[in-house]
Amino acid sequence: MDKDRIAQKVTDCLCEEFQAVWIVKIEDLSMEPFSLNLKGMLAERVDLINKLNAYEEARQWYVKTLAVPQDRKNLDEQTKVKHVLEKIKDGRIYYVEYSRQNAGIVNYNQLLYKGIENDEGILEYFILGFRDIDVRKNAERDNLTGLYTRRTFIAKAEKMLEEHPDEQYDIMMSDIVDFKVINETYGASIGDEILRWTGEYLTTNKSDELLIGRYGGDQFVIMCPHDVMVSICDSKTQNAFIEAEQNNNLPRITIKYGIYQNVDHTQTIISLCDKAHIALNSIKHHYGKSLEFYSDKLKEELDTNHKIESSMHQALEQEQFKVFYQPKHSAETGELIGAEALIRWVHPEYGFMSPASFIPLFETNGFIVETDYYVWKKTCENMKKWKNKNIDIVPVSVNASKLTFNQPNLIHYLQSIVSENDITPDMLHIEITETLMESNIESLIRKLTAIRAIGYQVELDDFGSGYSSINILSTLPMDIVKLDMSFMKQFGDPKRAKVLAACIRLAKELGYKTISEGVEYAEQHELLEILGVDAIQGYYYSKPLCENEFEEYLINHSPKTDSAQS
Ligand code: C2E
Ligand code: CA
Ligand code: CA
Repeated sequence: MDKDRIAQKVTDCLCEEFQAVWIVKIEDLSMEPFSLNLKGMLAERVDLINKLNAYEEARQWYVKTLAVPQDRKNLDEQTKVKHVLEKIKDGRIYYVEYSRQNAGIVNYNQLLYKGIENDEGILEYFILGFRDIDVRKNAERDNLTGLYTRRTFIAKAEKMLEEHPDEQYDIMMSDIVDFKVINETYGASIGDEILRWTGEYLTTNKSDELLIGRYGGDQFVIMCPHDVMVSICDSKTQNAFIEAEQNNNLPRITIKYGIYQNVDHTQTIISLCDKAHIALNSIKHHYGKSLEFYSDKLKEELDTNHKIESSMHQALEQEQFKVFYQPKHSAETGELIGAEALIRWVHPEYGFMSPASFIPLFETNGFIVETDYYVWKKTCENMKKWKNKNIDIVPVSVNASKLTFNQPNLIHYLQSIVSENDITPDMLHIEITETLMESNIESLIRKLTAIRAIGYQVELDDFGSGYSSINILSTLPMDIVKLDMSFMKQFGDPKRAKVLAACIRLAKELGYKTISEGVEYAEQHELLEILGVDAIQGYYYSKPLCENEFEEYLINHSPKTDSAQS
């Protein structure tokens, strides 16, 4: 066929615009540019043109270097000559679509194949057209990762459920922990890099049955058959991720996953994703837990949390929060030496609520600062009231959550409530926990030093719980070490008893006073006394008491009363 004849045929069948067009001779796979605008597909490899087998070489290079990783396998299969020839049989046009990455930008591209027959009706050439259809398609693929956008994901997932009504599918939502902080710390381009890497990791070498999209921000969504999801979630796969992540030369990240298993086919994809998201959200602030499954029970819990959150502000205004006081006694003499302020919520609908049911939530939503400040103020006001009634008061320790302790106005606030109520800083102890170690250590030390210099005493709460680090004792300035209740709960355990003895000895050697909490029985008290603990808190002496009960307690345990009685 002569050149003009071919050109005529090409022009006839290209009714749409392409950025570049080649003619490939089927016999030897040599290729020749038709339009001389080579901005597109093979601009980088013009030298290949006219060589034998050029199409095959260019194709392989292109798949390997330019296509986004998750599209490579498909693109490779779809562009193989044998496959193409099958598709363009009978004069049909064959389109292939894929995402291409170039200098970090992902574009959505389309290839067109169309056969050209010679006058004998034999397929002699095919046309290869290339164009960037990003503008038309950019709603389908996410620009950064090349994954499906939320909209496309939803549409494809809907179709998948519809076409396979009997298959069991799972939906997984993932979220990068503190991605906002990473973006702010390392800059948006590193943030983008991380998203791109994550998207790529989630897709490479995974099953074909995986439907994956970028749901928005740092959230990815995956839908696949249940057994495929099980294999994604197994510890081997999770460990492989951690290893790959450690070696990717990017800032370290943690990803959390929420999964809705065996989804209900009658619900909308959005509500299925919402369920996976509910599971995800429930562990968002749960250190060390990276995966959660949706359940109706979980949903109930979250609904309750929601109700709590919607009534907490009103609770503070209406004084539904009550402060209880639990006495602390000298281990040696048994005299009353202090108390701990503990919050309770008397809810108009749910009744008496223990702090365990709302404090963790307040710590997550930030309301803890207001409640802690409320408890501290109330405590100071009560001390003033008791003093005015001529009752001997004892120092009261108040709990400070991490967020509260990190308030810039903390010292100012303490000083104001103390002076407004005519008491002195030594009447207030501040209980802090090890979670504070997650803050900036230097400024933490500075703040603790300042607080102690004014006269407040610092107690380290829950020491010896979980994975407590001994180093905290030599790092943070403090006055009193509060031994965790778990020592008493595991009282019979000889190994635990050795740890307890060592903790007490160490604290003493470092110059701190010690208090043991959760003490319920005489045997516990005896042992602690032998080990040299300074103070005891627990049901052995008293449970936490309401304001009026504690007032009575103060009166009954005053040195004056004691001496009058003796
Ligand atoms: P915590 O600071 O370790 O308080 C000690 C908890 O042990 C209290 O539970 C107390 O009632 C309980 N307890 C005391 N003696 C015994 C005993 O002999 N046996 C047993 N089994 N338990 C005993 P509560 O009042 O339910 O408080 C739970 C946690 O809630 C507290 O643990 C503290 O972490 C938090 N919390 C309570 N009030 C406040 C507050 O005002 N602010 C903050 N940030 N947290 C608070
Ligand atoms: Ca405490
Ligand atoms: Ca404690």
